[in-house]
Amino acid sequence: MTVQTDAPLPLKAITSYHAHIYFDPGDARARAERLRTLIGERFVARLGSWHDKPVGPHLKPMYQVAFAVDLFPRFVPWLMLNRMGLSILVHPNTRRPHDDHLVNALWLGEKLPLKGDMLPAEVAEDTVEELPPPNTAPTLQP
Ligand code: ZN
Repeated sequence: MTVQTDAPLPLKAITSYHAHIYFDPGDARARAERLRTLIGERFVARLGSWHDKPVGPHLKPMYQVAFAVDLFPRFVPWLMLNRMGLSILVHPNTRRPHDDHLVNALWLGEKLPLKGDMLPAEVAEDTVEELPPPNTAPTLQP
């Protein structure tokens, strides 16, 4: 089977997005906590666990925010304005985890290194991360 590598990927390849919000232990954690509260008040998203130690390809403490494709045009600009000096990785979720994180991602603030060798080039369609149910109940308009 020939794999066509020059064909553009369709937008429907993206099933959801993650924003990984990184922080240094210490005073930056308080800013990360504040940002998490603000997000939960304003956006229907899934706020992931706190990782105070490096996990997976991530080399700094962080937490993940998983969000739907249609939230991108409101949530990402809001993060641009309100990231509180923190580094944020925004990446799509497709069948290509390595490219999602290292080639097709965008960074707000300082770009940080990732352990790319932990990320598979391609995964089966049924293992692409589905959007988890949101655990926020926004009460404010962004
Ligand atoms: Zn992620």
